[in-house]
Amino acid sequence: MSENHHDTSESGPAARVKALETLLAEKGLLDPAAVDSVVDTYETKVGPRNGARVVAKAWTDPEYRARLLKDATAAVQELGYAGPEGGHLVAIENSERIHNLVVCTLCSCYPWPVLGLPPVWYKSFAYRSRAVSDPRGVLRDFGTELPNDVEIRVWDSSAEIRYLVIPERPAGTEGMSADELAEIVTRDSMVGVTKIAAPARRGSKKKSATE
Ligand code: FE
Repeated sequence: MSENHHDTSESGPAARVKALETLLAEKGLLDPAAVDSVVDTYETKVGPRNGARVVAKAWTDPEYRARLLKDATAAVQELGYAGPEGGHLVAIENSERIHNLVVCTLCSCYPWPVLGLPPVWYKSFAYRSRAVSDPRGVLRDFGTELPNDVEIRVWDSSAEIRYLVIPERPAGTEGMSADELAEIVTRDSMVGVTKIAAPARRGSKKKSATE
């Protein structure tokens, strides 16, 4: 295999990056806060927006959805998303009956081109172990309460296969364009820890009551 990301030893990439970061910071060449800011950008902004566009296109273009489910690596490349950690991508679809949850039990394998860098909780031992032993409890911790008759499938990522969850398209979004839909697709929903809430709409009862 060409890329092994289960290397958690002291000499692994994470340790070497940390050592390099420390050295550069000591020499005054690097501001650790700036590094955190860049990492945060890739975790929450740039990265997951790519995945959101993939999901929105799958929701609005049945032929694209079929291609995505058949070969996600190729379908994602159609939109220009490729790069490290992007090979062997598999898309899995949530439905009323099946909810998919993604984890890397060994470390932090994650589909970078569509989701960016993994969040801290994804890399935590608690998430990695409990996603398998108690997925329903983990979902509850994220505020996701699933009916008992919904089957939860847990997918263990690796250097060979990384997963992208296609969340359910919420009700009330029928008139929205792909661009508008991409705005409501969250990173967490594409890892499978949350669902996407129906967007609040102008003229809805809730909103007009508070206006
Ligand atoms: Fe891993």
